[in-house]
Amino acid sequence: MRKKVIIANWKMNKTRDEALDFIYMVNDKMPDQNKVSTVVCAQAILLRCLVKRQGDNLRIGAENMFYKDEGAYTGEISPVVLKSTGVEYVILGHSERRNLFMESDEMINLKVKAAINHGLKPILCVGETLEQIDDADKVIDDQLRKCLDGVSDISSIIIGYEPVWAIGTGKSADAKIAEDRISKIRKILNDMYGAVSNEVSIVYGGSVSPNNIRSFLNEPNIDGALIGNSALDPNKYVEMVLAAIE
Ligand code: PEP
Repeated sequence: MRKKVIIANWKMNKTRDEALDFIYMVNDKMPDQNKVSTVVCAQAILLRCLVKRQGDNLRIGAENMFYKDEGAYTGEISPVVLKSTGVEYVILGHSERRNLFMESDEMINLKVKAAINHGLKPILCVGETLEQIDDADKVIDDQLRKCLDGVSDISSIIIGYEPVWAIGTGKSADAKIAEDRISKIRKILNDMYGAVSNEVSIVYGGSVSPNNIRSFLNEPNIDGALIGNSALDPNKYVEMVLAAIE
């Protein structure tokens, strides 16, 4: 049985004080990590102060990183330094990174490898745009194979299936369609890696809220959610985490 994972992606939101208020509000409401994994991903500049205050049952993640350890890469985030802050996870290949910052599958692949080499757990995002919806299976297959090229151990990876048209739009995918896509992702992983694919957590992301999260969590292949807007509110985040252990 795979454990559910509920991941908040705050994006470029929250001041330091707002971030700390959130952590203090949710910390003692988080269930045991043996029951559900809870992760909050925040801007790099906030990570150290969040790690210092994270409770026993909350984990902190970054939203991005570069693939080089050090050097002349002004403004980038080194995986070595990220690891030293105490974060456990890093989102890679989010559609906002792909679309606004021109990240290619090849670059994301280098980042996935660097994260694993440095003991960070990648949350690798894949998903089709609205224009690609009729070819979604092929698009996702292509993204997965390119982003995982040369990656031999996927035991620490979480896959986020995020249809781009559902992110931040209030229009989530139908849970049955998300289940179908995610079961196909698991088949691709099985084709690439064999039985270990059954242990990989694959979550759905795209306008998840306390109102619809149960429909996703009830599906056999959907292991949790990656949540933007609704996870900015601590009460909603707690509600969605508790839905995962009902
Ligand atoms: C996301 O940022 O990955 C996301 C799914 O956002 P939202 O929940 O706001 O659609």
